Amino acid sequence: MNIQNFINGKFENPISNDWVDNYCPAIGEVYGQIPNSSKADVEHAYQAAKDAFHNWSQTTLEVRSRILIKISELLEVNLLRLAEAESKDNGKPVNLAKAIDIPRAASNFRFFGNAITQFASESHESVGQNAINYTLRQPVGVVGCISPWNLPLYLFTWKIAPAIAAGNCVVAKPSEVTPMTAHLLGEICNEAGLPKGVLNIVHGLGTTTGQAIVEHPEIKAISFTGGTSTGAHIARVAAPMFKKLSLELGGKNPNIIFADCDYDDMLETTVRSSFANQGQICLCGSRIFVEASIFEKFKVDFVKKVKQLKVGHPSESTTDIGALVSKSHLEKVLSYIDIAKDEGGEILCGGNRVTLLGFENGYYLEPTIIEVETDECRVNQEEIFGPVVTIMPFETEADVLQMSNKVKYGLAATLWTNNLKRTMRLSNQLQAGIVWVNTWMLRDLRTPFGGVKASGVGREGGFEALRFFTEAKNVCIKY
Ligand code: NDP
Repeated sequence: MNIQNFINGKFENPISNDWVDNYCPAIGEVYGQIPNSSKADVEHAYQAAKDAFHNWSQTTLEVRSRILIKISELLEVNLLRLAEAESKDNGKPVNLAKAIDIPRAASNFRFFGNAITQFASESHESVGQNAINYTLRQPVGVVGCISPWNLPLYLFTWKIAPAIAAGNCVVAKPSEVTPMTAHLLGEICNEAGLPKGVLNIVHGLGTTTGQAIVEHPEIKAISFTGGTSTGAHIARVAAPMFKKLSLELGGKNPNIIFADCDYDDMLETTVRSSFANQGQICLCGSRIFVEASIFEKFKVDFVKKVKQLKVGHPSESTTDIGALVSKSHLEKVLSYIDIAKDEGGEILCGGNRVTLLGFENGYYLEPTIIEVETDECRVNQEEIFGPVVTIMPFETEADVLQMSNKVKYGLAATLWTNNLKRTMRLSNQLQAGIVWVNTWMLRDLRTPFGGVKASGVGREGGFEALRFFTEAKNVCIKY
């Protein structure tokens, strides 16, 4: 199936008629094409967004809210179709897309449809000076949203929903590897009555289409989720134009397990936090540190449970681990397993590509656990972003804190303990935007979301996102 750009409410071929292949990772074959959109397509999308901006920014909050909630409802109505499309494009189990990706995309629209009706600004009375200040929160204008392939519709809508709720018009690009649900979103937006031009979706390569969005001088803000090196590049391009930037980047998150935790709950959640979505979630706990007194027991139990995970075709209901997103990504992840061996890591389970009968060219990999001798090795420092975790023991709270923080990233951390004082101490000192205690990936959309250090700049979620997508203007009136 060929996917087209969605501009001004219409589906269109790229102006250059240049296309790139779209692969199905479960079978390793091309199953469609997407536009390789050029600067001219981005300009066309920008013009549509610009033309729509005046009316949309003046649309009442009630109407905006109603349209966003309608989009949310239509995403729910189309749950199965969207989940199947996501699974085919990304390789993730269809059950996962049904339970997580698509419901969350619907929640994103519902949440921001409601949030915009509650978004207020401040006023400050200058006592003794006969003046009052009030702050306007005005939409930025035309904004760019660029998202990655791991949670395609989930992250695409996490940006688009607050952007349009706040009155902006959007030029958006999904990852070229997973364009399908973004394409279907265009249809849904039309059905929900979103005015044409408010959301424009251009497909193509990051280095051409994405770059053209970032370089466009009139696209005033960029919300980007993706790799740290891409984020650094975008920051360099955008800086001289003084664009607003929200960068949600990579992670190498510690999962810290103390002996006093609720063991069974920890074990079950740790399997999930290690391998959900084939380990391709920026929040996965890819560095597992276990208190020395329970390390040997944990190792045995964890390996046993992980060996029970079924690697299979994403459409099968019994599949736990589907395909990795692309051949090049599979090769990258496999190269890290070789690096681990060179570094003296011990592969406790997994480590090999899986060949599924009938789907021999699919990009499957066994869930892999590597016991490392030192936290300073490359597999413990660099983001692998696949079904690969490292484990090692620790002796003291101070040691594990030091190892947890000694990476360039700072996105999330998970802590398993029932000791309140330790919880408070570590939560304060862990260098991360999010700390989960005795849980993982439990999300409340009102909370600030983002990372520190090389994991990003800025926060999304709740009113933080609405603040990002608006400009504050103070008005001071003397009376
Ligand atoms: P990339 O950085 O490769 O790509 C992200 C998006 O940026 C894609 O749409 C990509 O297009 C586009 N892009 C690539 N180059 C440019 C450019 N020069 N200018 C503008 N856009 C560009 O990341 P991945 O898609 O590989 O995603 C995985 C990464 O995302 C991991 O590092 C992961 O940790 C991170 N991530 C972070 C999250 C967070 O919330 N902090 C959440 C999820 C993922 P194309 O794909 O077409 O090349």
